Amino acid sequence: MAFTRDTSAQSNLSLDEQQLVTFIESGVEDAISFLEEIVNINSGSMNFSGVRAVGAAFADELEPLGFKTWWVDGEAFGRAGHLFASRGHTGPHFLLIGHLDTVFELDSSFQKFTRLNENQAEGPGVIDMKGGDVVLLEAVRALHAVGALDQMTVTIALIGDEESSGSPLEVGRASLVEAADAADIALAFEPGDGDPQTAVLARRGFTGWEVHASGVRGHSSAVFSEEMGYGSIYEAARILTGFQEQLTGQELLTFNPGLILGGTTVEFDEENDRGSAVGKSNVISEKTIVTGDLRTISPSIREEVKTTMRAIVANHLPGTGAEILFRDSYPPMGMTQGNERLLALLSQASTDAGYESVRAGNPADAGAADISFAAGRVEMALDGLGMTGEGTHTTTEWADLSTLPMQTIRTAILMHRIATAWQQ
Ligand SMILES: [Zn+2]
Repeated sequence: MAFTRDTSAQSNLSLDEQQLVTFIESGVEDAISFLEEIVNINSGSMNFSGVRAVGAAFADELEPLGFKTWWVDGEAFGRAGHLFASRGHTGPHFLLIGHLDTVFELDSSFQKFTRLNENQAEGPGVIDMKGGDVVLLEAVRALHAVGALDQMTVTIALIGDEESSGSPLEVGRASLVEAADAADIALAFEPGDGDPQTAVLARRGFTGWEVHASGVRGHSSAVFSEEMGYGSIYEAARILTGFQEQLTGQELLTFNPGLILGGTTVEFDEENDRGSAVGKSNVISEKTIVTGDLRTISPSIREEVKTTMRAIVANHLPGTGAEILFRDSYPPMGMTQGNERLLALLSQASTDAGYESVRAGNPADAGAADISFAAGRVEMALDGLGMTGEGTHTTTEWADLSTLPMQTIRTAILMHRIATAWQQ
């Protein structure tokens, strides 16, 4: 199905806005050609030269529009790095976020852009998220063409390791955080939940956790005795049952143990998510390790849940001990009034241009993404403004090409209206 614009709605647009629409609609085939060009450059997260080449292609497009561009080297976090661009010093400061990398490395069988028909094209990263990057670029190009770019400040962050983040993550996202601190509004162009009639106002953050339980090694015949206690495996089981009993049922809260190793000796290879354990059924277990994730919708809920989990862990069975370690990764993008206001503006821009309204997607359907690093540092933030289609992260990923002009028109009108209102 193609998303078409009701051109009779045009009267709701200002003259400038009508010019934006005309410019965007006349440039669609050129934009699709550029999308084809960048999809055909392999930029799996670990193909550093490919990630840089996609960044260079965007730099070549942005510089003629008056952007200063620079490359943030990724050596300190073990990845290619990011392309940044900025333009202007007045009006609202927009931070536009995309990513250059894909999940398809050089050894993938999926490497090429194929136009399937007028409205569909398949290719690696065609919607996740090179298509969204093109929406970002074309919106800025249109604003430049009608002279509206001079009423705003724009910083563009095209991240080079969204799909497989380098480490330490704080180092890898330091430049994005810094850009967000200087910005007023963050817009990101991921495909969202796959429905272009929704935008992402909130998404859950991700925290990794590790439980290390210990017991007294001894003959199993003495288990539960005062001297020998229960062993580390019972202690880990108690902890997991406690998590499940005390924390399940809260909306938008999940925690999942993904790996457990227990026995007399345990070797855990954290880097590769694997390990080995040695133990006998007649020996009380000495060591147990469990790793899992925790997904929360706000920083305060995240801290409350950690406190509850720590209290459960501390309530040891006789003869055992345990501790839990947390490692925060992507922060939650909380639902704010600013984000709701931004959605209302986007939806109005959409209907005024002759498209359908845009509603909030379900935060549970939104995976972790880079806007989370910016959302808490700006007044308003939205994600899911990119092209949509189906099959992200699979070798049948395809784009609905009619979402390219639709998302570009919505974004360009939204930015233009915010800039116009800012002056008054
Ligand atoms: Zn993505």
